[in-house]
Amino acid sequence: MKIRDILNRQRTVSFEFFPPRERDRIPAMFRTIDRLSVFRPSFMSVTYGAGGSTRALTEEIVVRVKRETDAEVMAHLTCSAQSKEAVHSVLVRLDGAGIENVIALRGDPPKGQATFVPQAAGFEHATELIRHIKRNFSLGIAAACYPEPHPEAVDAKTDLEYARRKVDEGAEFLITQLFYDNRDFHAFVDRARQAGIDVPIVAGLMPVVSTSQIRRIASMCGAKIPPDLNRKLEECVDDDEAAREVGIEHTTAQARELWDSGVDGIHFYVLNRRYSVSAILRNLALPGHKGPPKD
Ligand SMILES: Cc1cc2nc3c(=O)[nH]c(=O)nc-3n(C[C@H](O)[C@H](O)[C@H](O)COP(=O)(O)OP(=O)(O)OC[C@H]3O[C@@H](n4cnc5c(N)ncnc54)[C@H](O)[C@@H]3O)c2cc1C
Repeated sequence: MKIRDILNRQRTVSFEFFPPRERDRIPAMFRTIDRLSVFRPSFMSVTYGAGGSTRALTEEIVVRVKRETDAEVMAHLTCSAQSKEAVHSVLVRLDGAGIENVIALRGDPPKGQATFVPQAAGFEHATELIRHIKRNFSLGIAAACYPEPHPEAVDAKTDLEYARRKVDEGAEFLITQLFYDNRDFHAFVDRARQAGIDVPIVAGLMPVVSTSQIRRIASMCGAKIPPDLNRKLEECVDDDEAAREVGIEHTTAQARELWDSGVDGIHFYVLNRRYSVSAILRNLALPGHKGPPKD
């Protein structure tokens, strides 16, 4: 089923996984997927490795998740560092394997490279990839958007204009980059609606794994850590378990406020770990979502 059709009927809760670097970690990943399936996610997605090493695994895993769980799935696809032909072949394979949804992305610059340099024979931006998918496939298409502008963006207005173009080209819903201050999300949604973006905007939330990890990821994505959260995390620099609990409390409060204010959906960047997301969802018991079983 197209995820846009799910979003037309209900607000969604979804989980994002990444293909492990080593094949022998796949069973552990599927155990996590299995354990999180009890929360009856609206869909699960599998990221596409920027460096290339795990790209084939994305296809394999997303097909397995579709076959082995009750959840709808979405494959991530980036066009960086690949020719248009290579990207097209991935889409043909996904389509042939019965995958109905993709999130079309550009991808980050490779490690050690500050700015993105497109391949001569490749797509330059997500907008081009979305146009290609729309013209050649009947897949459901999602795209990324940025409540705090993308790190390479000229400015917030231009970044929003590109988000609007992604929708004009065929993106049926948007998922935000992670953020830790809901005011950034609400301000972005207001600006997006004013700019004529009328598709669902799903909020991307990433629970904390450790102080150092969240600081690194937030800085890479250009996401602020609010002073209050930052101060609490500072107290757990050497205690990942405590940092995780701080994160659970923060993300629970974020998700509750978003849900209460009518968000279209919440997408959890699960990082292949179930503990935090399980705790958050149990804390929330979201009304209106099919929800976790009582136990
Ligand atoms: C929900 C989500 C999932 C993600 N999944 C993955 C994943 O699986 N694998 C991975 O490697 N990365 C992933 N990323 C990260 C993503 O690849 C990076 O954020 C990347 O730097 C930008 O991707 P994009 O699709 O937003 O690019 P684009 O939309 O192409 O934007 C990139 C930059 O170019 C500008 N821009 C956009 N369109 C144009 C245009 N037509 N002309 C000129 N400038 C333009 C934008 O303002 C922005 O600064 C994900 C991000 C999100 C939010």
